[in-house]
Amino acid sequence: MQNIIFFFLLMTIFTQTSLAQSSFIQNKVIAHRGAWKAQGLPQNSIASLREAIRLGTEGSEFDVWMTADEVLVVNHDHELQGMDIETSTYEQLLTKTLSNGEKIPTLKAYLTEGKTQKSTKLILEFKPSQISVARSERVGELAVKTVQELGAQSWVEYITFSYEGGLKAIATDPKTKVAYLNGDKSPQQLKEAGFYGFDYHISLLRRMPQWIAEAKDLGLTTNSWTINLEEDMLWLLEQGIDFITTDEPEKLLSLIQSKK
Ligand code: MG
Repeated sequence: MQNIIFFFLLMTIFTQTSLAQSSFIQNKVIAHRGAWKAQGLPQNSIASLREAIRLGTEGSEFDVWMTADEVLVVNHDHELQGMDIETSTYEQLLTKTLSNGEKIPTLKAYLTEGKTQKSTKLILEFKPSQISVARSERVGELAVKTVQELGAQSWVEYITFSYEGGLKAIATDPKTKVAYLNGDKSPQQLKEAGFYGFDYHISLLRRMPQWIAEAKDLGLTTNSWTINLEEDMLWLLEQGIDFITTDEPEKLLSLIQSKK
């Protein structure tokens, strides 16, 4: 009898775990800096994240920098309207306003917004520091700790150009899923270093298409950027890519829908 109860308990846990993992949409579409272009929203704004969620993309990507006083903020460039992020305090950045009236989002605010739903994953790119490798590592570490603090682990996957920062993020929590952007490591090298996958520029994958199959054989994920042309989208889909990062999520969503 005890064995039967134990069996059902295990089955319940297994089913709940599977449900939790499968609640995210699986359509390969990653909105690059959120979904901003079609609606004229600021890139990396909370509004662009909400639009990606509304469209139903599998993931919404955003970029993270660390201020001088170690606040993680979401912005693409190293500067915000002429103010250098790494050498400014968060309070100084608050003197600037995005075109839709938002202030620069903190990582905490971005994660909190993303956690209000369970269909679109959050693709967190932490940027290499322009000051030091040590700061790149600190951003990787702090991003992982912030995600842990907010309990957002199941929403978040990471990407980075910083190999050292990626290693630091993985060391901070070995379950962290980090895909590497810089293109200078083979799938085998990434696997050995503990990375989750690659997110490489299409020009590299056109030269090295075998890396997609090699990565899959090693159990790594594959992603490519920034894909706005239909011919590139179709080529990557033919190669069996896992994800495609695009400024045109509406176009890619309808292309993938039309192929079903
Ligand atoms: Mg990015």
